[in-house]
Amino acid sequence: MTDLRPVHKHVWDGGTVPAWLDLHQYWFDNNQLTVATPDGHAHPQPGWWLIGWTDGTVTVASPWTGAHVYADDGITGRLMRAEAAIAHTRTLHRRNEHTGDCEHCSAGDYPDYSVPHPCPTIRALDEEPTP
Ligand SMILES: [Zn+2]
Repeated sequence: MTDLRPVHKHVWDGGTVPAWLDLHQYWFDNNQLTVATPDGHAHPQPGWWLIGWTDGTVTVASPWTGAHVYADDGITGRLMRAEAAIAHTRTLHRRNEHTGDCEHCSAGDYPDYSVPHPCPTIRALDEEPTP
């Protein structure tokens, strides 16, 4: 699985090009910005979003898509928070190297209470989602 994600987000104001945009990725002539994206050249208008990705590519999004997908409370922000919560849960429910048990689930009355790893929480995270 790729870890491609947006690392830069900028709502273009029609004049200021963000410093993270590489000189080879845009042209700015006669008040028209042209951005080289994987899908070809884009001509964003003021209010459109410029998105910089972990692999160095740049994309452009309309104001509606920017607000609903790339804003902190949009789909991307919600996804990143969900991934962070899952990663934190996996850290809590890690396997104890000596006992083979889940450290979190077995913490109560250890060593009298043990839950083998992967515990039900980790198994639930590993399940294929059902539509
Ligand atoms: Zn557990």
